[in-house]
Order: sequence, then structure tokens, then C-alpha cells
Amino acid sequence: MICYVCQKELSKENETEEHIILNALGGKLKSKKLICISCNSKFGSGIDNKLSSQLQSIATLINVKRDRGKPQNVKAKHGSKEILIEPGGKMKLSRAYHKIDGNVYHIEAPSIGEARKVLLGLKRKHPQLDIDKALENVEPIKDKNVNAKIELNFGGYEISRAFCKMAVNFFIFHGGNPKDIQHLLPFIEGKVKEADVHYFYPRSEVITKGKEEILHSIILKGDKLRKQLYVYIELFNEFKMIVFLSRDYQGEDLYESYHYNLVTNEILEYETDFMITAKEFKKSISKEIDEAKFLERLNYLFQQIRDVNVNRKIHEITTSSMEELIQKFPQEENPEFTEEMINIFTKTVIGKYLSVFQK
Ligand SMILES: [Zn+2]
Repeated sequence: MICYVCQKELSKENETEEHIILNALGGKLKSKKLICISCNSKFGSGIDNKLSSQLQSIATLINVKRDRGKPQNVKAKHGSKEILIEPGGKMKLSRAYHKIDGNVYHIEAPSIGEARKVLLGLKRKHPQLDIDKALENVEPIKDKNVNAKIELNFGGYEISRAFCKMAVNFFIFHGGNPKDIQHLLPFIEGKVKEADVHYFYPRSEVITKGKEEILHSIILKGDKLRKQLYVYIELFNEFKMIVFLSRDYQGEDLYESYHYNLVTNEILEYETDFMITAKEFKKSISKEIDEAKFLERLNYLFQQIRDVNVNRKIHEITTSSMEELIQKFPQEENPEFTEEMINIFTKTVIGKYLSVFQK
């Protein structure tokens, strides 16, 4: 086995686990038989880092499972204030804000500790200030109408290179010959500007998905008749590119696919192969993103993520309410549900539900 980038022999000394889809974005598929540790770290701080930073906000909102740690908080704007979005979508102020209204100070802070810091600062100017007394007036702000604005960019030279590397990774992972992708290495390494890598946004979806399926998908296809060898990649359903490995493919028909559901953390199997028609190829391939179409798709994705997070919350509420009920009425002594138990359960669920979802 050699590193397909630098051609060094892979050994115990230089082996490393290369994630075919970035782990920072919830990717799980990995292999030690692709690239060496020094090439891995070079890409890690380069194109991989660029891709993960562009799509980090999506990974955080979904709260994707990573090998280590949680996705990082994402900065967003709510009016003129900066807020932080935590994994799963919970929001808080990034720091304390205060304003003076006549002789009244209004302080908004992400925590009591932060509010106390602001008060300590004010006490230097106003020594008579009673901090503990001021903190007695704390009221929680539950703003259900936060319209968080996230900055999200997708695309560019480094991103095309990162998708190209994913495609080559997947090809080699499935036994592809490193010789067949040599021509793509200068592009992946940033030595040339162009390669046969394109955005791909067909009119109808290549992979039909359910409402709560948010997937990372990779399809490797060798088409003997059309002499094409290509990899189609979808990250989070909506970030789509196609990488041609060859337009003069001499091999047999080939089909390998991988679909990972980021909501349930399961690998999905489809019975049928996905096909891209010749017409779609011609029409939907582009070096530029159609921004209007892309924005529409992104809105759909954000709606999907909202639904996923609401359903997760509902699941959490019912599970924890059931646990509380069982604690109160141990199963050994209460083999059957009584009316009293059902009433208590319903009340608990409704109470929790209102505190989370009520506007
Ligand atoms: Zn290497």
C-alpha cells in the first residue's frame, strides 16, 4: 500500500486514519490505506479545514456525532447583537450587552456570571451600587422569535479540491488503481487551477429522501457505454458536486455507493442504483452555482433541520417524563397503568412542552 498523494509506502510509522468524508462534518467512513500522516495533516490544515469551516454551522445545528468532542458553537447575528448557536440549535448571547435608559441600567447577559462582571465594572464608577441586590432583579429572557442570521458560504477553489479528494478517496477505498487518478493530484494539491469538478444541481433529486433524512452520500459510477468514470457527492443533502475521474473510461460497469444518515447515525442501503441521465448531465453541470436555486434549497434544508430538532425535543420530553413516572410508580408495584398515572404523565408532558415551545 502506498500513499496515493506522495507515493510513499504506508507503514506503522506513517499510517493514519483518513476520513473520506470529514469527521468535523459528521463523516464516519475512514480508512488507513489511503494517505500518509504528513499528507493528511497538510490537507487537514488546508482544504479540509476550509470545507469544514464553510459547512460548520450546518453540522452544529444538526449536532452531528463526531469521533471526539462536539461541533463548535456558531456565531450568528440577532439584530445588532452577536449570539452563539450551540450544537442542536440552542442560542445564547455571545457576551453581555448593556444600555442606559435615564438613570436605569439594562443589562442583558448570557449568564448570571457575565451579568455580575458588568456590574463589577459599573461599581468602579458607582461605588454605592449593591451588586447582589441588582442581581435579585434578574429575569430570564425567553425570546422565541429570534431570527438568527448565519453567514454561510459554499464554493471556491479549495472546496472543489476538497470534493475532488473525497472522490479520489472513495475510488481508492473501493479498490481503484492510484494510477488512474494521477492527473487529479496536482489539482488536489493546489498546483493547477482547473479540473473536471463541477457543481451538480439537477432538476429532480438524484437521491430521493424522506422529510427527516439528512444524508452524506457518495456514489462512484463507471459507465462502460458512455466511457465515464465519476463520483457524485452530496453533503447534508444540498451541497452537491460531481468529480469526473475519467471521460475515457475503458473498464467495466461499476457502482459503489455510501449513504449516511446524520439524524439517526445509520448507514442506509438502497436497493436500486441511482442513475444520472445524459440529459441531466448536460443541463445541470456547472462551474458556477445558480444562487437563486441554491438559496431555495438551503431554506428547505434549514426547515428540515428545525423539524428534526423539534422532534428530538419532543422525544426527549416524553422519555424524561416516562422516567419520572417510573420513579414515582416503580414497575414492580404498579404492573398496570392506572388513571392516576396517566393523568400525572400527561400533566408532566404538557408542562414540559409548554415551557419549551410556548411563545
Ligand atoms: Zn503522503
